[in-house]
Amino acid sequence: MNKHASASAHLISDHELIAGNTALFAPNGPVPFNAASPPIFQTSLFTFESYAAIEDVFAGRSEEFIYSRGNNPTVAEFESLIAALEGAETARAFSSGTGAITAAVLAFVEQGDRIVAVRNVYNDVYCLFGKLLRKFGVTVDYVDATDPAKVAAVLPGAKLLYLENPTSMVFEVQDIAALAGLARQHGAMTMIDNSWATPLFQKPLLHGVDLVVHAASKYLGGHSDTVAGVVAGSKAHIARINRTSYPYLGAKLSPFEAWLLLRGMRTLPLRMSQHMKSGLILAERLGNHPLIARVRHPALSDHPGKASLSGFSGLFGFDVADDVDVPGFVNALEHIRLGVSWGGPETLIVPAQAALQLPEESNSFRRFGVVDRTIRFAVGLEDPDLLWQDIEQALAAS
Ligand SMILES: *Cc1c(COP(=O)(O)O)cnc(C)c1O
Repeated sequence: MNKHASASAHLISDHELIAGNTALFAPNGPVPFNAASPPIFQTSLFTFESYAAIEDVFAGRSEEFIYSRGNNPTVAEFESLIAALEGAETARAFSSGTGAITAAVLAFVEQGDRIVAVRNVYNDVYCLFGKLLRKFGVTVDYVDATDPAKVAAVLPGAKLLYLENPTSMVFEVQDIAALAGLARQHGAMTMIDNSWATPLFQKPLLHGVDLVVHAASKYLGGHSDTVAGVVAGSKAHIARINRTSYPYLGAKLSPFEAWLLLRGMRTLPLRMSQHMKSGLILAERLGNHPLIARVRHPALSDHPGKASLSGFSGLFGFDVADDVDVPGFVNALEHIRLGVSWGGPETLIVPAQAALQLPEESNSFRRFGVVDRTIRFAVGLEDPDLLWQDIEQALAAS
């Protein structure tokens, strides 16, 4: 195991995080009454002044708001912000990350198509592919995407390359620029789940990826109070989602939740900076503890794909040694809580041993070799010394 956090030379600075993301601090356009905080347009529909006005909008001659399953000004403000941060032409928001992923995949994948996906995709994406898309004859090849040659071997004939950098639960890094280039050579489009890094630490469109999806429920919202998702990309790609899947799946974002996201994101650079610092401190201390067998943090990886990450969030994993009793360790924690999801202020863990109990058909963890010693660790915004003391005492007690 490499115990040195070797990435420090290239880490984005606090100044760059703030200066490079000015879109977070100002509204995208005029705000009624010059309100500093944009209002919530809590309305399902918008009315028209005349026959001509409603005909113009149906005929596509004007772009007024019609109905909030289509467009809503508060949601549009959130979409513009995500597009600005990702360097995308535009974006489309959803009521969940899974809603965003489902709509994006359904817009581009046809009956009988084949998808190439990183192994250890987010578990519900595994279920989307294996349960829902399977009904339409869509097949999936899961690959070890740390090795571009393995991806190249299965790309011919595939419609979509689906990435997560790093991957869920085990945090494997891949070279997204190289993989997007390979996909382009084979005529496949590339989609990436960028929830882990956020656009502050990774901007996949700049590396040739076609579409970026987010679980905004995690770091973007940042307060464990909202479930939301978003897709960012070119106008043509988002228009296709708008035309073919978004309105009919109906997984639209509510104005109130868009407002919560806009509110939460004003502190995104400050939060991500602290998640990174605390995560690196804890990863290093875990790596030096005799009862920890392995730390699964992308900063400890020597993979060239790490180059697309300008920083590291606070989510990673560690494997406890064989003589640590996992339930005993988990139950001995006093401050760190047990719960799925991540990206909020509170520190959370998920023991893989519990996740491995999911039924076989819903269980990507078992299939992709996740081991029962692994603990997924979402480092929150508390004092890292307090978190470390909690881990030390729980390891000693287990
Ligand atoms: C949580 C998560 C999702 C799904 O987002 P929801 O908002 O819960 O639907 C997708 N990808 C990753 C990596 C996630 O962690």
